[in-house]
Amino acid sequence: MRKAGRVVAEMLEVTTAGARPGVTTAQLDKLAREVLERRGARSNFLGYHGFPAVICTSPNNVIVHGIPGSYVLKEGDIISLDCGAIIEGYHGDAAVTVPVGEIPPLTEKLLRVTEESLVAGIGQLVQGNRLHDVGLAVQTVAEGAGFSVVRGYVGHAIGTQMHEEPAVPNYWPGTPGPKLRTGMVFAVEPMVNVGTAETVLLDDGWTVVTADGSLSAHFEHTIAVTDNGPEVLTVPA
Ligand code: MG
Ligand code: MG
Repeated sequence: MRKAGRVVAEMLEVTTAGARPGVTTAQLDKLAREVLERRGARSNFLGYHGFPAVICTSPNNVIVHGIPGSYVLKEGDIISLDCGAIIEGYHGDAAVTVPVGEIPPLTEKLLRVTEESLVAGIGQLVQGNRLHDVGLAVQTVAEGAGFSVVRGYVGHAIGTQMHEEPAVPNYWPGTPGPKLRTGMVFAVEPMVNVGTAETVLLDDGWTVVTADGSLSAHFEHTIAVTDNGPEVLTVPA
């Protein structure tokens, strides 16, 4: 899973560098495909319930699952880049939300807080903790900064499948959840909105947007619970 995670990290690097004004989201998908080919990795996104690309590209008010296509990035946009790869049957999954050129202070705060909420969640992936400690930590950071946490879409366990049980909510769901043990691996992925947490699914069957049109950010890592604490797998070699 470390190998798959390194490929995902490279996809994130390449697509982040490519996210400039005038570039289409289809071009970012192409950059990610080239990384998969170069590294001999398979895509876990392409063909997933018919998904037509190797990454999800979710600009501005799109929360997750945006389909790469003709959308042209412009100065002041933010865009979530969600990347995945399979190496030797094992999956990696990670996302960042990046600015396109200059962005206003509130948007900068949204990105910073969402990433901080992910870091706080990761910090809970310690043997003996309960899984839902992750969501509580994410929620505390995001709501503490005045933002809302999406409830309708959540993180997941990951291994020989991209989406495995159990789910990893980004909020306290009212129960502590399973006890964490070494060897468990999770994709933690807070989705944080400036306005309402309510979501709307567009007619394409994939694109999830904020119900009030407000901006949304999304950060994700694949993390293993180890004897030495949480180990983030979706990082460069
Ligand atoms: Mg993902
Ligand atoms: Mg995921």
